This record gives sequence, structure tokens and C-alpha cells, in this order.
Amino acid sequence: MGQCDACGEVGRTHECDTCGGEHCLVHHPRDRHDCAGLAVEDEDDGPGVVVLAVITLAVLVIGVVTGLTVAEVTDLGGEPSAPAADTDPMRADDPGDDVGRDPGTVGRDEPETRQPATAAVRNPWRESPVVVAIEGGGERSVRPLVAETIAFWERNDGRYAQYEADFELRPNATDPDVVVSFVDGEVECDGGHGLGCAPLLGPRTLAERPTDVRIAGDFTNESTLRTMKHEFGHVLGIRHGEPPRPLMRAVEANAQRRPLPDASARPNPWRTTDLTVYLDNATAAERQQIDNAFGFFTDGADGTVPAGIGFEYTDNRSAADIVVRIRNASACDGRQQASCGVVNGPDPDRDGAIEYYTRLRVTVSGVGTDAVAWHAGRWLAYGFGADETADFPTVLRSNRTYRERRDDWWS
Ligand SMILES: [Zn+2]
Ligand SMILES: [Zn+2]
Ligand SMILES: [Zn+2]
Repeated sequence: MGQCDACGEVGRTHECDTCGGEHCLVHHPRDRHDCAGLAVEDEDDGPGVVVLAVITLAVLVIGVVTGLTVAEVTDLGGEPSAPAADTDPMRADDPGDDVGRDPGTVGRDEPETRQPATAAVRNPWRESPVVVAIEGGGERSVRPLVAETIAFWERNDGRYAQYEADFELRPNATDPDVVVSFVDGEVECDGGHGLGCAPLLGPRTLAERPTDVRIAGDFTNESTLRTMKHEFGHVLGIRHGEPPRPLMRAVEANAQRRPLPDASARPNPWRTTDLTVYLDNATAAERQQIDNAFGFFTDGADGTVPAGIGFEYTDNRSAADIVVRIRNASACDGRQQASCGVVNGPDPDRDGAIEYYTRLRVTVSGVGTDAVAWHAGRWLAYGFGADETADFPTVLRSNRTYRERRDDWWS
């Protein structure tokens, strides 16, 4: 079992002799996938001869695994959460909703132990204010968005909501009533994925503490704000299709993704600092060479990558983050190419550039053992986002001489 580098399909894969990629039967032919990549020429003219290798960035190939991204944007909130399952929120005209009635005697699913502090607090948490905390969001400042959502419902709950609640934003509260969490990608809810999730609560339901409101983190502030107002609408007992419209409609078709940094712009374009490596066909001496290249990167590659990235060999080729193939004859596209490589990864913001890398495949072919580390190292630099000369550590730039490529450049 493997995963097709071209379409992301999981199943039986076939290795491409040219680029080392793994592909499904459909994408196996070379003209069906982004074959080979940026190639590095090697000077085999012998010691002392300085030859500038020609690197054509135009042929740099980045495969985008579109199969890993999801296209639909639907909202899945509004399904009653566990505590609300058998107690629908009451309508405003429900005769049972008379003022002054003790909510503790009304809520069927309310445990005996959680009596209201006072009969006056008629919200699912039975206390006031209702403390709202924030989780996630990364570098992005999401606090103003949550604050604006709360302010919106402060103005509008009397008109639309099933109950009124005095929400108070305390982003780092240790014992909050509601947690708004921002998640990577889209939100996984019961039954699918979408922009956001929240339980449908009502004046008689007893909320879980903390109540989870989850918001997809990959959208613009404007879209995020709309999603958050919508999800808080559910928390306040408003169902899909009810006013305020169109805020409470079930499907939000106009959600805008915000641009995400592309992999090559990240200090570490991988999602992890522990990468697994599969070595294909390496002799002990070649493996020693490659160890040296990895060691150089663990030490920060002359400051071009964050220090401390770990590399561990694995026997599981399909699951390996990095595959290095050693071939005797030229296995790259073109006889002059001594090494080639390709990176893969998802493109969730669909800007045509990989957002982070999930796979690097390197082929080193037809070079002497003592040049294996240099070629592997050069492609590792590429796998850490180097795509222009200035991005590469000096010792791995293409103007290195025959001799320099074979010295202990990593020490
Ligand atoms: Zn495929
Ligand atoms: Zn190929
Ligand atoms: Zn909804």
C-alpha cells in the first residue's frame, strides 16, 4: 500500500524509474505526473576543474496532492449536542416559558446535583456571567473577532435568541463555561466537516462545561466572524433557517480562505521536526555519506534550517517522509543529471503552491561514493525550502567545485 504522489489515492503504487515518485496506475506514465525535478549536474571532468553547474529553475516541479484537500464548505452546527438531545430549545411562544418559573424543575435532563444558584439565572450554564475562553488561533489575533461576536449577540439576543446570556470574554480563563477553539483546516464535526460546530442549546438545557464552539482557522477574518456569529446563534438556541437571516442559513457558500504561508517560506516546511528516511539501495559507505548530510541539517545547516530536526531511518518506504534512492546508472531525466528530487504536499488554500511538505524523494545516480553526501545534502536543502541559490547553505551551492563537493563539507 502506498499513496499516489499525483492524486493522493491510497492503494497499490508503482515507482517511477525516473523521478522515484510513487503513482497509481493512472499516473504512473511519465507524462501523467510531474516527472523529475530540478536536476543537479555533476562535474566528472576530474579534480581541479571548475565547472558551474547549470540549474534551470523553470523545470522545478512541485506535485500538489489535491486529493488531500477538501472542497465543500458546509456548516454542520445546529445538531443538538448530547445534553440537548432530548430537550429542544423552547420557542418564544412556548407557554412553558413563563417568567419566574424555576428552571431546575423544568429541565428533564438536569442532574439533581446541579441545582441553580438562583432561579433568576435561566441559561444553560445556570450562572452569570457566562465566561468565554479562547483556544488556538496561532499567531493570528482572534480575540477581537470573539469580542465582536459577543457584542453582536449582546445587542441581538433579546430579539432572536431563545434565552439571554451575559457572555464575558476571558481568553485565558482556567474554568470557562464556553471555549471557542480555532482548528487547522476545517472543523470535523459529527457527520462531516465544515466551517464551524456548536451545540444547539436552550433555556432548559444544561450545557456541558466547557461548551465547545469550534471554528475552522483557515478563513479570512470576515468569514470567521460570520461563522462565529452563526455558531453562537446555535448556542443561543437558534436553528438553521431561523432569523436572523441569512446569518443562520445552513450553508455558507461565500467563505473566503485566507492565504497561508507556502512551505518554502516556512523555517521548517514540514509539520514535524522528526522526519523518517528510507534509504534505497545504499552501500554502507553511501549510508555513511548520507548520515553526514543529515547530521549537517540536524545542526542547522549553517543556520538555514531550525536546529534540532531529527532524521530516523525506517524500513517502511511508503510511510517515509524522505526517500533517498542510490542508482549506479543515471536515473534522472537527462544523462548529465547526477541527482534529482521532488517534493509533495497539500495545497489547502489552493494558491498553487504547497503549504507544507509531506514527502521528499531524492535520486542520486552515477556519482562516486564520496559525492553522495553533497548531492543528498543539496536535495535536503531543497526539501527545507531552498529554491534559489541564496537559500542554500554556501557549501551546498551549485558553484562548488568537484573537489569541494567531495571534501568533508559538512564538518
Ligand atoms: Zn494517481
Ligand atoms: Zn516520474
Ligand atoms: Zn449552523
